[in-house]
Amino acid sequence: MRKINKELLKSITILYVEDEDMIREELSYFFKLYIGSLYTAKNGEEALEIFKEINVDILITDIQMPKMNGLDLIKALDKPDIPIIVTTAFSDVDFLLRAIELNVSKFIIKPIDLEKLLFYMQECIASKRLKDKLYEKENLLKIINENVIISITDNEGVIIDASQAFCKLTGYSKEELLGSKHSLIKHEDTKNKFYKDMWEELHKGHIFNTEIKNRKKNGDEFWSGVTITPRFNIDNKIETFTAIRYDLTYKKRLELLAIEDEMTKLYNRRYFNKVIDNEIRRVKRENSSLTVVSIDIDYFKKYNDTYGHPKGDEALKKVSEVLKNNTLRAKDFAFRMGGEEFFIITSGESKVKSLEYTNNIVREIENLHIEHSNSKCSKYITISAGVVFLKAENIIDIISVYKYSDDALYKAKNKGRNQYYFSDSSD
Ligand code: GH3
Ligand code: MG
Ligand code: MG
Repeated sequence: MRKINKELLKSITILYVEDEDMIREELSYFFKLYIGSLYTAKNGEEALEIFKEINVDILITDIQMPKMNGLDLIKALDKPDIPIIVTTAFSDVDFLLRAIELNVSKFIIKPIDLEKLLFYMQECIASKRLKDKLYEKENLLKIINENVIISITDNEGVIIDASQAFCKLTGYSKEELLGSKHSLIKHEDTKNKFYKDMWEELHKGHIFNTEIKNRKKNGDEFWSGVTITPRFNIDNKIETFTAIRYDLTYKKRLELLAIEDEMTKLYNRRYFNKVIDNEIRRVKRENSSLTVVSIDIDYFKKYNDTYGHPKGDEALKKVSEVLKNNTLRAKDFAFRMGGEEFFIITSGESKVKSLEYTNNIVREIENLHIEHSNSKCSKYITISAGVVFLKAENIIDIISVYKYSDDALYKAKNKGRNQYYFSDSSD
């Protein structure tokens, strides 16, 4: 049996139009028992006035009325987006056809079966609300597609769907993405180990959160925060992975600007102060060891004088590249402290390894074979380096560490340059 949904009926507003006072009053009395809010009108004109003021959920109208009849009222409303129920005393075919044309939802033939009318109203409003909900959902999906950066892969990492926002960010069309491996947008700086760990977590069914650097189709790099969620099928097996991103490129760029030396792309002096402090704390916490290296290019003033400042800048960049390539691990840092002076921080090495490491860098720079005819220590550009190696318990503070390595650098210079000097204060 159909049931009256009192809750639904209590939530609606009805406009009831009927010219015969008796019928109108009787029905109004009945409506008031069930309907949330009721408005009545004696004819089409009155009804139109009420329509201007009130948000009506259902219009119930008689047909034959003085002043403005029911069909003219519906016409005057100009396709109202609400259900219309027509009550009528006669079933003239021509008239019914005209009413259908006007999108009338239901007809009730007088005398009115009140229960039937309630069911009609209930059906009308339920289907209208469902339609609204579907529309809302469709609208929502459209907004998501345009604004949320989503990619979905299968178990093998092959892209099976991507939002418009993802296409826009990466520069790939949907056709190019579908069927491709997600590694299409991989950035070479992101290590294979990172992906291995990521897939391990995901295959365990865990949600994976990270910040990651990728490459667009045009080669530009971009940063995003990403949450990857495994989706399970009914057998509880992982079927797909949904990745939702937010763009972090701008934020990362700002972060980098604050810590990067513009010309050499090494870290700057400002960042040095922060890193050395962090690293000393970490080494003490882990009871390991700290190695720092002060570096200065030999006879660089003469190089500028001989080859010009622009060539000097080029040489600075090449030297920096060697330093960068020797500080690729997470615990290694290379800084340009200013001019042609650099600094390296690394940790957890043995004393012997630290010396080998520094010597290797000194040799690599000379082996760049950047001609320097006015150098007194080589045919090529060279550096001098002061190394200090300290165990956790012997690190006093930043200033002392810096001074030890600087003194050692001074000694390397005095001993003839193009070499390293191992600090006497080392362990
Ligand atoms: P030493 O072997 O004793 O270190 O001799 P040096 O000439 O390298 O020492 P000094 O510190 O007196 O000179 C450093 C020179 O580095 C001075 C300046 O001409 C040059 N320099 C500093 N910053 C830059 C730069 O950004 N670009 C270029 N091209 N040269 C720079
Ligand atoms: Mg110098
Ligand atoms: Mg100098």
